[in-house]
Amino acid sequence: MQRDEPAAGSLYLVGTPIGHMGDLSPRAIHLLTAVDVIVCEDTRHSGQLLGRLGAKGRRLSFHRYNARARLPQLLELLAGGSSLAVVSDAGLPAVSDPGEELVAAARRAGHAVLCVPGPCAATTALVSSGLPSGRFCFEGFLPTKNKERRQRLEQIASELRTTVLYEAPHRLITLLSELCIYCGSERPLQVARELTKCHEEQVGPTVQAALNHFQQTHPQGEFTLVLGGAPITTAITLSDIQLTESLRNLIAQGTTASDAARQLARETGLSRRRLYALLHQETSD
Ligand code: SAM
Repeated sequence: MQRDEPAAGSLYLVGTPIGHMGDLSPRAIHLLTAVDVIVCEDTRHSGQLLGRLGAKGRRLSFHRYNARARLPQLLELLAGGSSLAVVSDAGLPAVSDPGEELVAAARRAGHAVLCVPGPCAATTALVSSGLPSGRFCFEGFLPTKNKERRQRLEQIASELRTTVLYEAPHRLITLLSELCIYCGSERPLQVARELTKCHEEQVGPTVQAALNHFQQTHPQGEFTLVLGGAPITTAITLSDIQLTESLRNLIAQGTTASDAARQLARETGLSRRRLYALLHQETSD
């Protein structure tokens, strides 16, 4: 631990537990009990943790509804030499949580910004999923508006890297159903539930398997989804003859012609219509 922390006029982003209280680091505890001001997503929620630690700093709220009004006051405090710690309800501030705007404004104003790293649901789920973690992207919560959501789902469907998503329990089944449609039922997926808590579990290994599970077991708690990347498309190198053969194989296994075209379209990134036409061409030859 650096004993000269907190430095005057510095902004600290402090990671707090996403479940297990033992995950609060000694450095985080030191900072939270020593800074002049603690900027909380919700002062009442963080009040429980801060009370237990005996943190005496002034508490100010900072969330999406007061961010613009609060920013000048926080910048003024930094300029006046106060040390500030930012905490969200859980995890790392500024990851699907307030903080990003404050960090950007503090940097623009020339103040030091330091992160006291701590738990983050996204990386905790990623590294425990068993899916490739060397390259990944983070989507957080998907947009709720139809058009934007569809566009984002299309992008995710063709993303080659592992994708991490957040979702609320009451929307989980909808998201899993959408992933089934856009990415295919057999796309690898691990749903991390209640990470670091006593009922922690992983549900997978595919989109369909997770959907089946949560259709039978009501989703409760907090969820982070880790979706495998799209299969590297072999479409560019596959000839029409090979594509037709793949379609025929699927049909021989009992898949209808239109479902076979849909499935191969998902796997190769080619248009379903083009694949369906190949079958038609084949029967009319
Ligand atoms: N900033 C936080 C972080 O670093 O983890 C994330 C904040 S975001 C508003 C909250 C979402 O994170 C939840 O809806 C859920 O998707 C995910 N999450 C948080 N805690 C979790 C946990 N213990 N297990 C699984 N997912 C969790």
